[in-house]
Amino acid sequence: MATLGVPQNTIEVLQKHDFHFQKKFGQNFLIDTHVLEKIVQAAGVTKDDFVLEIGPGIGTMTQYLCESAREVMAVEIDEKLIPILQETLAEYDNVTVVNADILKLDIAKIAEEHNHGNPIKVVANLPYYITTPIIMELFESRVPLESVTVMVQKEVADRMQAGPGTKDYGALSLAVQYYSEAEIVANVPPNCFMPRPNVGSAVIRLTCHEQCPVEVDDERFMFRVIRASFNQRRKTLQNGLGNDASLPVSKEQAAEAICSLGLSPTIRGEALSLAQFAELSNRLKKA
Ligand code: SAM
Repeated sequence: MATLGVPQNTIEVLQKHDFHFQKKFGQNFLIDTHVLEKIVQAAGVTKDDFVLEIGPGIGTMTQYLCESAREVMAVEIDEKLIPILQETLAEYDNVTVVNADILKLDIAKIAEEHNHGNPIKVVANLPYYITTPIIMELFESRVPLESVTVMVQKEVADRMQAGPGTKDYGALSLAVQYYSEAEIVANVPPNCFMPRPNVGSAVIRLTCHEQCPVEVDDERFMFRVIRASFNQRRKTLQNGLGNDASLPVSKEQAAEAICSLGLSPTIRGEALSLAQFAELSNRLKKA
């Protein structure tokens, strides 16, 4: 099978199978060999690795991953792509294609069965409509992860890397910081995809921490505090926390905890660092 990173070969496969792109699945297939090589290289895939690919499409990047990895599992939601994948990946015996919604799979179990529970590498050109839920699910469900190297919208990559006080800073930036070290490894223009998306893209590598950088008594509670703080960006932190129905915290308790950290009562959530959110949530939890 000829490499699919070459646009002509991709077009041939699509025409042969009379495949029509489904917008609802965020289908923008890569057609640039340099970008494909860059992603696999940035992920540092070796013959020791088990790689989970989310959304293989017609198998363009999967071919590269099969060449470099020990074992690849490719999870694709669109059943129309499964017969195509069987054909484009026919020459590889180290790949399993699974027809499923990635958000409904027990990925920790997959890591257990295919990688003895050791940290796995995730590599993907993600469907943009569910980028954040996929990243959050990987992190929050405590899948053993070594790294996550993914193509995302440029704007989302910027949000992942943002620091306190910037307009892009939010719950996603804090989750990424808490679980990993983020680095944008390439900016990718729309003409590297078929069909072309109407936004710029970037490849970001999240190298997962062996140990989280701050001490938190209850991780889930901290992320509830963080979400509540950013839900109403224009409110002060104490109002945001005190008014959030999902958080068992009164405005007075919020004010007291904020004050005990030496912060101004009028401070907004977007000014707090990860370490400050960790300490705040530890105090609120005790209160
Ligand atoms: N990896 C291919 C490439 O780079 O050419 C395709 C990438 S395309 C941006 C995203 C892929 O994810 C599509 O094949 C789409 O059908 C698949 N997809 C969308 N939602 C999914 C989900 N919830 N679970 C698994 N795959 C999904």
